[in-house]
Amino acid sequence: MTPFVGQRIAVVGLGKAGLPAALRLAEWGADITAWDDEDTARAEAGRAGLHVADPATDFRFDALLLSPGIPHERPRAHPAATAALRAGAPILVDAEFLFRAVRAAGSGARFAGITGTNGKSTTTALLGHILAEAGMPVAVGGNLGTAALSMPMLPDAGAYVLEMSSYMLERIDILRFNVAVMLNLTPDHLDRHGDMAGYAAAKARIFARQAGEDLAVLGDDDEWTRGARAPARLARISGRHACPGGAWLEGTTLRDAAGPILDMREAPTLPGAHNAQNAAAAAVMALALGVPRPALATSIITYPGLPHRHEQVGVIRGVRFINDSKATNADSTARALESHARVVWIAGGTGKEGGIEPLAPLFGRVAHAFPADCAFGGAADVVLLSPAAASWDQFTGFDQRGDRFRALVHAMEKA
Ligand code: ADP
Repeated sequence: MTPFVGQRIAVVGLGKAGLPAALRLAEWGADITAWDDEDTARAEAGRAGLHVADPATDFRFDALLLSPGIPHERPRAHPAATAALRAGAPILVDAEFLFRAVRAAGSGARFAGITGTNGKSTTTALLGHILAEAGMPVAVGGNLGTAALSMPMLPDAGAYVLEMSSYMLERIDILRFNVAVMLNLTPDHLDRHGDMAGYAAAKARIFARQAGEDLAVLGDDDEWTRGARAPARLARISGRHACPGGAWLEGTTLRDAAGPILDMREAPTLPGAHNAQNAAAAAVMALALGVPRPALATSIITYPGLPHRHEQVGVIRGVRFINDSKATNADSTARALESHARVVWIAGGTGKEGGIEPLAPLFGRVAHAFPADCAFGGAADVVLLSPAAASWDQFTGFDQRGDRFRALVHAMEKA
């Protein structure tokens, strides 16, 4: 892999994505120095044969591959990032290296990028599913699931479907997405980005390298995304109103200018107008990547859904138990509450910017609300875990919180 031979790359943050990235780049001939603030991670890297040293002490590298979760500016810059910036070295993300590797290998495989405050994982998994069902070689992941440098090299006919967080987008350079979407933008991660303008600017980088025949898809359901600009051909998507250049929900029908695509009531894993917007995004992108229009409906209907996103985990005496642990902010919880007339709501955790005030108009639907650290008793039609808060107060992540809820429901089912 010639572009990497002899390149001095510091890899900082040796987690699920960082360690495989360091190993892959080393395999491709890069001169890797690996580092993590945790000694257990450093020891593991050492055992894997990597050179482990702190790059901040004497920064002589061509690039810093910095884990997206580690800040380079706010709230507090990591010393390796400060050293890289001082040395004028770029701070990059694994997806950037994947793109360079694929192009250097001479593959014309396409790149699809998905960003937004909410709906990224759903849209990523759905688009990946549609492309795979159409027989395309695909690799799906990024921010969620398979890390970029754990993905295989794909042939010309292949497509990489990458979920891109704002933290990742700050660290891309020449990565050009053939198709990209910004689903929505509501306040999140402002400790890192400073303010909404900074957050929106980071997200908009998904379109930065696009040109000519590339496709930029923009959500039309919130003010920040509606106002965004992109240099490429534009398609707008909505779960609420007509977007003739893109796709939208009309009644219960997902459609575009050419006509109906499917009745969303046939797609049980994608309830609500927000999921119709996600389906609209995936449909527009799939069409642009060459999926035949008649294949869309079936693959949207067979989409299996993702755990922790409005996932039905049990039914006890007619009451549905829904695990929406992934809803870590008020906006995502609003989508879940909107889907039910009368709910028992389990919420709480580590609060996010804006708190839960935006949910006040939906409180009429709540029969009972329980803080997430309490047992619950009564019932409406639905018991909904949709915390509108991060999980760090009691759990290692939203997935552990959702797994615990699922286990409790299963135990109740057996009792
Ligand atoms: P992300 O990966 O961006 O966090 P997910 O697909 O995991 O998004 O969905 C997280 C939560 O966000 C869902 O449980 C749902 O409540 C909400 N959500 C999903 N899609 C949208 C959308 N298009 N607009 C607004 N909220 C959404």
